[in-house]
Amino acid sequence: MLKVGITGGIGSGKTTVCKIFETLGIPVYYADDRAKMLMVEDLVIVQKLKALFGEAAYFPDQSLNRAHLSTLVFQDKTLLHQLNAIIHPAVHQDGLQWQAAQKDVPYTLKEAAILFESGSYKTMDKVITVFANKKLRIARVKKRDQLTSAQVEARMSKQMPEREKKKLADFIINNSGHRQLIPQIWKIHQQLVQLAKEA
Ligand code: ADP
Repeated sequence: MLKVGITGGIGSGKTTVCKIFETLGIPVYYADDRAKMLMVEDLVIVQKLKALFGEAAYFPDQSLNRAHLSTLVFQDKTLLHQLNAIIHPAVHQDGLQWQAAQKDVPYTLKEAAILFESGSYKTMDKVITVFANKKLRIARVKKRDQLTSAQVEARMSKQMPEREKKKLADFIINNSGHRQLIPQIWKIHQQLVQLAKEA
């Protein structure tokens, strides 16, 4: 079973692309969603986050106070590194367990916004990057998340430039609107099925 990573900048359409792969029977591990889940359900992580950010890291109902964490890590790079040092290995381990539980599929997908930045792409057999032009990405995220252009651009500026991602990817999906998604996904799916047979 091949391990395939899938990434792309905010608003590129990687989640949309993953949903299409799921309709082909391919299991998808959504790393960002799992990380959010682990931050509230994994008691070891909860303890570590409280030690790092104080009791205010969580609301009385035990949900995560994201605004508190964001404010602190925005001001202090060391804290951001410490946060990543807690979350990244935990998600990696969780992803390995998830992978081991998958059966009878040619490959699995791991969706992560920071697949390249975190270095986890090195543990993948192949990597797909989803690409869309900046104007379109801004318009999509503004609509999806009710943000201003400036807020979307601030998020984009923290991510690896698209051209760097394209260089590191084995497959590129163009989701800029003028190319249909499904034929591109189908072609990559067939190539991956073939690679899995040969492996
Ligand atoms: P990402 O996960 O990369 O941030 P999403 O898959 O959530 O991006 O896509 C961002 C928004 O754009 C979503 O609301 C999605 O429905 C929309 N979108 C993505 N691709 C397309 C497309 N090809 N046509 C129309 N809307 C799209």
